[in-house]
Amino acid sequence: MIYVHIPFCRRKCNYCAFNSKIGSVAEKSAYVDALTREINLRGDDSAVETIYFGGGTPTTLTLAELEKILRAIDTSFNVESHVELTIEANPGTVDENYLRGLKSLGFNRLSLGVQSFNDALLKILGRIHDSRAAIETITLAKNFFDNVSIDLMYGLPTQTLDDVRRDIEHVKILDVQHVSIYGLEVEDGTKFFELARAGKLDLPAENACADMYDFITETLPAIGYRRYEISNFARENFFSRHNVGYWTGKKYFGFGAGAHSFDGKLRTSNVRDVATYCAGKNISVVEEVVTRRAAMEEFCFLGLRLVDGIDARTFEKNFGVKIFDVFGAVIDKNQRRGLLTVDGDKIFLTKRGMSLGNEVFADFLLEQ
Ligand code: SF4
Repeated sequence: MIYVHIPFCRRKCNYCAFNSKIGSVAEKSAYVDALTREINLRGDDSAVETIYFGGGTPTTLTLAELEKILRAIDTSFNVESHVELTIEANPGTVDENYLRGLKSLGFNRLSLGVQSFNDALLKILGRIHDSRAAIETITLAKNFFDNVSIDLMYGLPTQTLDDVRRDIEHVKILDVQHVSIYGLEVEDGTKFFELARAGKLDLPAENACADMYDFITETLPAIGYRRYEISNFARENFFSRHNVGYWTGKKYFGFGAGAHSFDGKLRTSNVRDVATYCAGKNISVVEEVVTRRAAMEEFCFLGLRLVDGIDARTFEKNFGVKIFDVFGAVIDKNQRRGLLTVDGDKIFLTKRGMSLGNEVFADFLLEQ
């Protein structure tokens, strides 16, 4: 698996804590050079089944720049013929020609940052697009891609359940293949954080957010989207193979500023600052040596994100010990709380467990 981080956006959204900035043409070009350098240096003969261009807004790069990065990956790795090749894009940054170009570069999955179909909410979020641009981009994209995903947010300032209802109505009409949902988190360093501190962010009450979450998670399956992960829904056969790879503990290379990598033992991360990354010295640090114990914990709390949960036999095969011998007390406790179900070898979150996932995951940290 390969992740490529493109840290540039047209404008900084009001809620955004991602590693992204507004970049000049020269800055982007220098960044692409640095990226290709890193890819060439770290390349090996690993088979690559999924490649994901995320950001930021990767579609702020030119097609020629994207091609340069893809060529470096192709030269440095063993990219499989059926590779899932995703690029994130934002409505308002792509037109018909650009989409055609993405398709001809080999991208076969498009992930669009729609967030909402409500113009007032999009304005509050500081997005560059309106609902019309979102609808136009999705409609156009479907001419070139048969695997289109959209991101939607809930719990937004002033948002009501009716707004969410209308968003899901749009999903139904536009008939995309995949939907990811995100509850708003107000993070330090964002404009929303400042507004919240000044008491000027009109966030919905907790129970209103819970109603939105319940509505989305009940309605999407009712209109033909299978919930395969806490926040992800897809038509059959359109699960994100790349993201499933993270949740099942696969190794991955992360290229670019702030990108993380995992080689099965070491978790490393690149420096976040774009200029430092481009300077190309000491760009990577080891974040964590993943011990056997940590690997067991991760197997559980990442795997439990998936609706199918974790498999006791796989755990035993991977670690040579029974999951109930290591996590028996945690599993019991969460079963008693109605958050986990054990069915034969399968262990998975209940519906209630899905909404309280973080509490269950925390329990699986043996160090605590
Ligand atoms: S488009 Fe995405 S990455 Fe860029 S500023 Fe907005 S939220 Fe952040």
